[in-house]
Amino acid sequence: MFQINLPDDVKYILNTLRAAGYEAYAVGGCVRDCLLGKLPKDWDVTTSALPEDVKRLFPRTVDTGIKHGTVTVMVKSEGYEVTTYRVDGKYTDGRHPESVSFTASLDEDLKRRDFTINALVYNETNGVTDLFGGTDDLDNKIIRCVGVAEERFGEDALRILRAIRFSAQLGFEIEEDTYKAAVKLGGQLKKVSAERIKTELDKTLISDNPGHICLLNTMGLDRVILPELENADQEFISAALIRSRNELTIRWAVTALAMELGNEEALEPGALTVKVLHRLKFDNKTLDRIVLFVRTIRNGFPGEEDEDIRIRCRRLASILGWENTDDFLNLCEAVGIGLKHAGRKNTFNFVPELIEEELKKIKENGDCISLKELAVNGKDLIECGIEAGTGLGKTLNGLLEAVLKDPDMNTRDRLLETVKNKG
Ligand code: ATP
Ligand code: MG
Repeated sequence: MFQINLPDDVKYILNTLRAAGYEAYAVGGCVRDCLLGKLPKDWDVTTSALPEDVKRLFPRTVDTGIKHGTVTVMVKSEGYEVTTYRVDGKYTDGRHPESVSFTASLDEDLKRRDFTINALVYNETNGVTDLFGGTDDLDNKIIRCVGVAEERFGEDALRILRAIRFSAQLGFEIEEDTYKAAVKLGGQLKKVSAERIKTELDKTLISDNPGHICLLNTMGLDRVILPELENADQEFISAALIRSRNELTIRWAVTALAMELGNEEALEPGALTVKVLHRLKFDNKTLDRIVLFVRTIRNGFPGEEDEDIRIRCRRLASILGWENTDDFLNLCEAVGIGLKHAGRKNTFNFVPELIEEELKKIKENGDCISLKELAVNGKDLIECGIEAGTGLGKTLNGLLEAVLKDPDMNTRDRLLETVKNKG
């Protein structure tokens, strides 16, 4: 019998439930990951005990999803989701089933789960219970729906994106019937909320096989959830993604850049990206970083062709900020490889290796690259007789530009002198 090394907290929860006469198992992702030799992110429990029984048996619980039978059991500072065996009603909001009913049957509970590899349960007495061939599918690296795929995707279309996400995370293939059903029912993704879609796309992109995002295109799903992706160069996307660092903003920047390059109306660098990311309900900080990357790369290596590379690199650092230069260079490298792979011309003119060297020196020298580091501020200029307002900002930016060109300019005297001469 295959043994899983359950964490003590999980043993305690399973033992407590079983000692009280209920069935209880670790379920879903944790069992799957253990069988794959991976460390599970979290442990979920499925049980025949009703939520009120679970609450009675454990001193500290939180009603996280009590309507759907989920109680979080706290052990020390760790929470574990314990869910009563249930049968799902219709999914009308595409998020939660409209109604659920509890059942005493493990079979019934496992039937409602999405994929065979996610419908595995384990406890120390029974070992792994596998009612739908999930262990074979794990061995054969296959994502397959539990039951009739078309019905399962019809109930909750998000499962289509989950199939792609798991295929990316695990490096698995989607089984033929499941794949065909996903293509057929793809239109149903219209009903799924942007937040849920984003979560699955994020997980697909920050996986070991980010190129699986191109399945959206192959399966005709981008048309439904991300039409901007339809005309994007898929060769470029997959090649660039694989070469990029596993970081959400870099991976999204690759994807968004491909969208902009594939859409001729995307004249203004970054504008299409803003639109798409807004629709997907990105938080502002992440959105800003992705847009900064896309805009900066599309604008090309800043400065004139015949200008000293050190100056151009200071300008680049000034646009990006030091917190972004490293990831940006990784993006440039990946984009360069992606374009080459797709047989496209690289017109952006970034040479990551050269730029990296220069940036290192600029940083070591402590050269000023931002208004914060300028030897004068707005107050100094006002004292010099410059009027507060937009003109002031312009003057400060002009001074920064002068300092980017010549760091020796960054003294209070020299900068004020420049201002006075101009004034
Ligand atoms: P992860 O490692 O990303 O947490 P997971 O398999 O644990 O993967 P969860 O989203 O945490 O995925 O869900 C836990 C379990 O609940 C799944 O393994 C699956 O059995 C079931 N499940 C989750 N979402 C769905 C869904 N939309 N439809 C059917 N079953 C689902
Ligand atoms: Mg999970």
